[in-house]
Amino acid sequence: MTIQPIRLFGDPVLRTRADEVVDFDKELRTLVQDLWDTMESQGGAGIAAPQLGVSLRVFTYHCDGSAGHMVNPTWNAIDDECQDGDEGCLSIPGFQWETRRMRNVVASGWNMYGEPIEVQGTDLLARCIQHETDHLDGVLFLDRLDAETRKQAMREIRQASWFDGNVPTIKQDPHALFGGF
Ligand SMILES: [Zn+2]
Repeated sequence: MTIQPIRLFGDPVLRTRADEVVDFDKELRTLVQDLWDTMESQGGAGIAAPQLGVSLRVFTYHCDGSAGHMVNPTWNAIDDECQDGDEGCLSIPGFQWETRRMRNVVASGWNMYGEPIEVQGTDLLARCIQHETDHLDGVLFLDRLDAETRKQAMREIRQASWFDGNVPTIKQDPHALFGGF
């Protein structure tokens, strides 16, 4: 069991697009185990490899009675339904802000043995899949907040005890998740 330190907001690895996994080898299985152990130690709903400083497209999840991992995931919305609810991030500890997400999604990817897998999620699991896949693109949930909430969030983060003052540029919605509104 290996619990790794979690990279915090301000660390450039969280703003880097992670690489596709090419080798489904022992290192990948170790990474999945580390992600799992670290996520569970924090009681997190999910965690993505960049949060451990590893720029690879892998995440683990454990929420709504569902648990597992995905390698090279992509997701699609099943319908047009959105959900609004509080969202947090292990890399931005101590905060939650209301974040709009799609409500019903299906994610496709691979497991650590290179076998294709599909995960269908609603509500919290759907939110988790979107949040973790965002991490793999260097996107944080702060980028998904409306402008006013984002400003308030940045003010609060700057005052957080863990924050080291290195404020990176907030990206403006690189993915038109909601069809442009
Ligand atoms: Zn996160």
